[in-house]
Amino acid sequence: MLARVKDVCKRNGLLILSVLSVIVGCLLGFFLRTRRLSQQEISYFQFPGELLMRMLKMLILPLVVSRNMFPANLVEATFKQYRTKSIPIIKSNKAASESTTRRIIIYGVQDENGSNVQNFALDITPPPEVIYKSEPGTSDGMNVLGIVIFSATMGIMLGRMGNSGVPLVSFCQCLNESVMKIVAVSVWYFPFGIVFLIAGKILEMDDPTAIGKKLGFYAITVVCGLVVHGLFILPMMYFFITKKNPIVFIRGILQALLIALATSSSSATLPITFKCLLENNHVDRRIARFVLPVGATINMDGTALYEAVAAIFIAQVNNYELDFGQIITISITATAASIGAAGIPQAGLVTMVIVLTSVGLPTDDITLIIAVDWALDRFRTMINVLGDALAAGIMAHVCRKEFTKDGDEVRTRQNES
Ligand code: ASP
Repeated sequence: MLARVKDVCKRNGLLILSVLSVIVGCLLGFFLRTRRLSQQEISYFQFPGELLMRMLKMLILPLVVSRNMFPANLVEATFKQYRTKSIPIIKSNKAASESTTRRIIIYGVQDENGSNVQNFALDITPPPEVIYKSEPGTSDGMNVLGIVIFSATMGIMLGRMGNSGVPLVSFCQCLNESVMKIVAVSVWYFPFGIVFLIAGKILEMDDPTAIGKKLGFYAITVVCGLVVHGLFILPMMYFFITKKNPIVFIRGILQALLIALATSSSSATLPITFKCLLENNHVDRRIARFVLPVGATINMDGTALYEAVAAIFIAQVNNYELDFGQIITISITATAASIGAAGIPQAGLVTMVIVLTSVGLPTDDITLIIAVDWALDRFRTMINVLGDALAAGIMAHVCRKEFTKDGDEVRTRQNES
């Protein structure tokens, strides 16, 4: 029994520490409120939390550049192998993005407050000051959306350049891996920083119980959004394209979903998702090998949904009114930031800074959602894994004739020889 408890603690050490740090932070914050500390003392107290925030911000630029440039390149290069079957999918995305662009331009002309929409369009077309700019709406001075668009475009072009693009691709891969190593080390500082971030926040707040109530509504909203997306939207997409029963498919990957719930990591779940798809859902091995790793890297619909809701929650807590252009910016940066999030526990919390920065919301307020993030992370990881698995199922359906033909040809050749 003792050995089992030890084993659980060893494997979930960081999780246990994070939960404890949230509890300790809350207790400490409420206790110190009764002591009526001076502003100076509060600022000393907030220092370790400030360090944590700086660590997160330091990682944004290399993370966004490498995570967007490298996967974009990977997708471009890998899609070449499946060019014939992938073209319709790429075309439909292109058509969608063209219509979105057209809509943005039309709004820009018709809307009296069009200037915000136009600013948004200018932001996604990075100007010379691509990395830093000092304008309202970019509180930390970083034009994150511009960097995301620039890096992704560069990644796609690198994918087309063939061998001459390889050095830069390897550089991005190395950059990506080294940033992830920094993340892996710095997460051990997180529990300590969290205690002071949360306690510092409680010391600063006017009425913490009102925030607690809002946090409950926020968590319920995220979970409802994930349930609607996971139980209706994704299965319906699968059904409309494949005309097969999504419940049967989802039953086949139940084990992977439970592992996602337990580990909060779509990357860690990858081997189980792969196994479930092959053994239970009979998805072609070549499709699973291609779609799952790409999906675990860039397809994080649960994370995107959570980041958008969290940004809106933080805006509401600060009585900050978001206009139409800012809501579009949040939707797009949340999607882009989710692409940048690694398939590891609470990576979405790191890239959340990107979304908040893009509309000038205070990044320190991430501390407000940390308390419930460890739980929400588990649900959004399940949706991320579900999205990847259903995408593989759809791709297998779309490509089935091609692969059956391939298989027959190989078998015929083997019989002849
Ligand atoms: N934990 C999530 C995943 O692995 C990423 C996130 O933090 O949203 O898919």
